[in-house]
Amino acid sequence: MDIDDTPVLDNHLHLDPVNGRNVEAAEEFADHGGTHLLVLNKPSWHLVEKATDEATFREVFDLTVEAATAASDVLDGRAWPVLGVHPALISKLVGDGYTPPEARDIMQTGLDMAAEYVADGEALAMKSGRPHYDVDDAVWEASNEVMCHGFERAADVGCAIQLHTEGGEDFENVAQWAEERGLNRTQVVKHYSGGRLSGPVKSVLSDKDELEIAVETDEPFLMETDYIDDPDRPGAVLGPKTVPRRVRWLLENGHEDAVRTAHVETPAEVYGIDTEATLQR
Ligand SMILES: [Zn+2]
Repeated sequence: MDIDDTPVLDNHLHLDPVNGRNVEAAEEFADHGGTHLLVLNKPSWHLVEKATDEATFREVFDLTVEAATAASDVLDGRAWPVLGVHPALISKLVGDGYTPPEARDIMQTGLDMAAEYVADGEALAMKSGRPHYDVDDAVWEASNEVMCHGFERAADVGCAIQLHTEGGEDFENVAQWAEERGLNRTQVVKHYSGGRLSGPVKSVLSDKDELEIAVETDEPFLMETDYIDDPDRPGAVLGPKTVPRRVRWLLENGHEDAVRTAHVETPAEVYGIDTEATLQR
């Protein structure tokens, strides 16, 4: 089996139609054998401005939906938008003088809107989470409330949710919070994960070491780059060709089953997408 015999999905990448390479990055992914993309909106303050109202969230989401449509045109498979609110927004808002509960409410409004895009068929899934850096108790509490609101809305509209969180391997509590709100843990994805994780589904940042752990662990997993499409920070993250390269490497090492897990079976389980039926070479 070689890379032309399988779909190749990057589960978390950003495209920036304002300042970035946008479709060109999707072309680079496709040129190396990539077929499907989940396109995450960039944080509002990197794309437009700090979101404090519905209009700004809408602008950010619409730009991302357009970017995903344009990316689909250059892929043999397709791209889908994943929309939500970056957890670091809370610190930006609190820095501007909003209280943590006020910031929480703004962010929950953004998640409500993301859920609407999913309900309308414009987006595939949502994104939320909590800060990956130390924050005070009030901000931490408000952030957990935002994330749990995301679980509720994802359950309402029947979609998956990607999480941006602190590092670590034990997110059993977080998976339980989702389930208490009606969202199955198989619908909760920890983005930027290592190869080992308990609780949500792992979306493994495509470093070889972590992928090897994921393959050995033999559980559902996804692969991602978290490419940020930021011309001011080239090389800050993995580039768009990384997932196809790692798929080649996995295949060369006899890991056909793991490739099928990450690019066909787990995407179907988590998002209900069919990466084979949507692939036309
Ligand atoms: Zn990201």
